[in-house]
Amino acid sequence: MTVRTRFAPSPTGFLHIGGARTALYNWLYAKKNGGSFVLRVEDTDAARSTDDSAKVILDGLKWLGLEWDEGPGVEGKFGPYFQSQRQDIYDAYLEKLQKADLVYEDEGATRFRVPDKDMVVHDRICGDVAVNLKTAGSKRFDEATKQEVEANPDIVIRRPDGSYIFHFVNVVDDIEMKISHVIRGEDHLSNTPKHLALFEAFGVAPPIYAHIPLNLNPSGTKMSKRDQGALIHEYVQSGFLGAAVNNYMALLGWSSGDDQEVFSPEELLEKFDLSGVNKANSKFDFKKCLWVNGEHIRSLSIPDLQTAAAPFLESAGIDADDPRLLGALELARERAQLLSEIPPVIEPVFSADISITDAAREKLTGHVDIAKVCSTLVQSLTEVSDWSVDAIKAGINNAAESMEVKMGKLMLPCRVAVTGATSGADLVPMMVLIGKETTLQRIENLPSLLGG
Ligand code: GLU
Repeated sequence: MTVRTRFAPSPTGFLHIGGARTALYNWLYAKKNGGSFVLRVEDTDAARSTDDSAKVILDGLKWLGLEWDEGPGVEGKFGPYFQSQRQDIYDAYLEKLQKADLVYEDEGATRFRVPDKDMVVHDRICGDVAVNLKTAGSKRFDEATKQEVEANPDIVIRRPDGSYIFHFVNVVDDIEMKISHVIRGEDHLSNTPKHLALFEAFGVAPPIYAHIPLNLNPSGTKMSKRDQGALIHEYVQSGFLGAAVNNYMALLGWSSGDDQEVFSPEELLEKFDLSGVNKANSKFDFKKCLWVNGEHIRSLSIPDLQTAAAPFLESAGIDADDPRLLGALELARERAQLLSEIPPVIEPVFSADISITDAAREKLTGHVDIAKVCSTLVQSLTEVSDWSVDAIKAGINNAAESMEVKMGKLMLPCRVAVTGATSGADLVPMMVLIGKETTLQRIENLPSLLGG
């Protein structure tokens, strides 16, 4: 079977993590099986769908690296890929149902006669789900009595204004686009019996279905766009790597069967399978997502890290050609969880002056005699001729010995003097990058910067 999956978002102005995960699973499944991944924009809701709202989704998918084989901008045999441009196709399909007497008009709308028998969804993840649409009961809210009342189970497929309903266009397009596997959120499982009935009415075998569990927020309710980590463009802005977000999204509902949690894009492709998709809903955990991102940052080569961090370095005014940049990135790579954390950490290497953070100022209050510490450090470090990690450490150690304190006692004032902060990248390698002259100057200046 030729595998053809699709991601079929309704453009709402955002690419939500739940949608992006659906896209990822479809993309992975298609790629793994030598198939095609189709992107279809379900923009029949004219009020909500604008060019911009579709663009956000396309941009988000591109940033994640989930490029489509057919879809907007990549024309294939089955386009157009915007539902708003497929009216003629839908009209032709409606005619088929009319000819077979499977639809009728009801107050201007068109209804599809649902069959009186079990429609059985053979779902790859949820198992078999059988529903008789005719007898299952269909409810509507009655405005007059403010109560739920029995409703006509026959499905409206076209509104009185002539626009088509989701169920109909979704099925028509899955037929027309020769979709073999429909992988989508479990919130659509209740729609699938209706879709099966439509497939049957058209005399077409349905695709294989796999409904993936929902991704809930930490409090266990449906994730909304206001929840932290809900929107893909926010990941871009805050310094995530697309590969890390894919890795984390994959884990939201799937596991490889062992304890592995960090996957390179190649490993994910190799290991992902629908059989590893969980049945239970997942809970979004932003801390874990950050952790995964940190692991991916650490796996990057320095040139790749430089490319990925370029927008952040640029907006911090760090010169991409500075010869110290590669060394600084090497230090920052060890701890950063986000690309945006890198510039503040390495800034002391490049800036002429440093300023002391309030937190650092507070930490040094009541600390050992700062003036004495600084003058001793300067004295001892002046004698260091080969400005290397080992030699600097020995210099700091000598200063500590001459003051009869532990070396650790000097590290905090030294760090604050050199970087302005109480934490950051490994201090001594930073001092190497900053250079002897500037380092000594900064240590000398600390007491006056502290106002003492
Ligand atoms: N447009 C639907 C949605 O965004 C697509 C459902 C499907 O994948 O079939 O939920």
